[in-house]
Amino acid sequence: DANSAWAKDRAHVLHPYTDFSSFKDEGSQVITGAEGMYVTDSDGNRLLDAIAGLWCVNIGHGRREMADAISDQVMKMQYYNPFGHSTNEPAAELGAWLATHAPGDLNHVYYTTGGSTANDAAIRLVHYYFTMKGQHQKKKIISRNSAYHGATYVAAELTGIHATKMSFDKVGEHFINHVSAANMYAKPDDMSEDAYCDFLVQEFEDRIEQLGPDNVAAFIAEPVMGAGGVLVAPKGYHRRMWEVCKRHDMLYIADEVVTAFGRLGHWFASEEVFDYQPDILVAAKGITSGYIPLGATLISDEIYEVISRPQCEGGVFSMGLTYFGHPVACRAALTNIEIIQREGLLGHARNMGKHFQETATGLCDLEHVGDVRGHGLMLAVDLMADKTTKTPFPVTAQAGANVFRTCAELGVIVRPVGDRIVLSPPLVIEKAESNQIYSVLRQAISGLSAG
Ligand code: PLP
Repeated sequence: DANSAWAKDRAHVLHPYTDFSSFKDEGSQVITGAEGMYVTDSDGNRLLDAIAGLWCVNIGHGRREMADAISDQVMKMQYYNPFGHSTNEPAAELGAWLATHAPGDLNHVYYTTGGSTANDAAIRLVHYYFTMKGQHQKKKIISRNSAYHGATYVAAELTGIHATKMSFDKVGEHFINHVSAANMYAKPDDMSEDAYCDFLVQEFEDRIEQLGPDNVAAFIAEPVMGAGGVLVAPKGYHRRMWEVCKRHDMLYIADEVVTAFGRLGHWFASEEVFDYQPDILVAAKGITSGYIPLGATLISDEIYEVISRPQCEGGVFSMGLTYFGHPVACRAALTNIEIIQREGLLGHARNMGKHFQETATGLCDLEHVGDVRGHGLMLAVDLMADKTTKTPFPVTAQAGANVFRTCAELGVIVRPVGDRIVLSPPLVIEKAESNQIYSVLRQAISGLSAG
């Protein structure tokens, strides 16, 4: 029916990460409802959302309290020009909350429209900071292979996943460098965790030497790599990388777009879980639980002090976003935070995270499960044709896509990233739902053949 939402979508809407050549022929799914841990599609299927939308719906779907707060703010004051000297109450309140709860002295915030724009803001702030300090050549940024930092041009180049770069010019090639991902599954089997950590830190040091410490401005990393495969770094890795940054007068940017706001059981993971204090912290997604888009780039007192010196050659910080500090988005964030606090969702996520990780290890006995790893309510399962030799499935076997489809037929939405299944359920998950996710996943993976 040409009038259906599906037909209009296929005719007119361009979706991310979609093969447009086969797009029109794919099966239809219109999501029409969402409540708690579940979404409903237009065929009336009720599906358990094991990925929280896209790592973001931390408080669960369809909260009346969020709708009320959003509607109240729209009627009170829905938008006004945020440049220069005007502000709004929710943006100011949220700024104060972030300053109190973020690690160390990250007391100042630049608001954006999501994670990509917040990472762009982080890089611009780094460049602005060193320019204001007169260190004009200190511009290079070191990122990691397999990292995901977003979809705007600079954020996509910080990203270390090849598929995000195909057919695009490399505008940031002259200042963005990549080092290895901290990937415990890919490390040589005979190398200890400590030796692997030494190797990664040494590689980082060598790269800085090679580029010249006077040229290298910052390192950016997710506390736990998300889209790159829920890669949990070896013990002590972040702290040691941070120490290297400090030695070379470099800034450490923690991309906490996924890990903040409870996914690892804390407001922020860098300090509370991994024991380092970033100079810049980037948040989005869970900050509003995805009810309204919002991103936030937090900076330290030291950076703030430098960029608020009387202007000289730095000019003003010229990144101007119409929706900076959007009152409705900031109000949504404040209400989201209130819910997380009142319902004790950080503690709940810590407890459920343990259960979630423990239950997952049960999948390891399956023939085609090469690795299961994660932290808190983030988890990945690597599918392998032959796990003893770590041989992947041929691309044509579509192992990840097949597991995704079977899970959906059995009522659970997981996320395939190639042949890796990623999970990140809402923080409100209970044991019964966690058990259901793994029993469905077990069934779907058991149905794979070596291809
Ligand atoms: N950084 C990380 C770690 C992410 O996972 C994402 C999105 O998945 C982004 C940045 C980009 O955020 P957005 O899609 O809101 O622009």
